[in-house]
Amino acid sequence: MAQIKVPVVRNILQANDRLASENRNRFDEAGIFVVNLMSSPGAGKTSLLEKTIDALAARMGIAVIEGDLQSSCDAERIQKKGVQAVQINTDGGCHLDGNMIQIALDSLDLSQVDLLIIENVGNLVCPAEFNLGEHEKITMLSVAEGDDKPIKYPLIFQICSVLLVNKIDLLPYTDCDVAKIRQTSKQLNPAGKVFEISCRTGEGFGPWLSWIEEKVGEHRKIRAGAAVPPQADSH
Ligand code: MG
Ligand code: ZN
Repeated sequence: MAQIKVPVVRNILQANDRLASENRNRFDEAGIFVVNLMSSPGAGKTSLLEKTIDALAARMGIAVIEGDLQSSCDAERIQKKGVQAVQINTDGGCHLDGNMIQIALDSLDLSQVDLLIIENVGNLVCPAEFNLGEHEKITMLSVAEGDDKPIKYPLIFQICSVLLVNKIDLLPYTDCDVAKIRQTSKQLNPAGKVFEISCRTGEGFGPWLSWIEEKVGEHRKIRAGAAVPPQADSH
């Protein structure tokens, strides 16, 4: 009988959801668009951040929260790009949660930030279970990992708004079938978008960057609307 265990799990997730919604309120008050970037280790999350920052930093304020078991390598890579970055070390923990984000936010000056990217711990399983207060979840899969991952780890592919299929420059050297990834993810998540990219060559970045810019624009309008009476052209 699972009668004893089930309520415990539910309490953890409920407590997390409460913290996540506090985070969300904070983001919305500041008019910041927030994404939770998830993938297995080595799919290219930090490379995506570097390329995205290079392309967008002149047009918007960007901050990054990095989640890793140990080390601050990734936050250091991001800081070299001249944007604010905080590193969370989970000390063996395999996902970020709402409380960790709340603590990390104290180290960021959100006043000039339009886009906050949270890079989750590399793991295709439990990061999908924990809301952080983000507006959208992004899942990344590299073609080197194989086209069977959406079938084996469905939840993370089900709940994302965008699936980034990375390392398409490696396609000639793998047996990965991108059409199969698209087909499975369409079945799991009919409304989700799929962008094929290479963080190494920059191929395919246009649609991804446009999507981010559009979302940031929508959230800026929410901020403008909350701060001042609605106006025609406000930014
Ligand atoms: Mg990383
Ligand atoms: Zn975990």
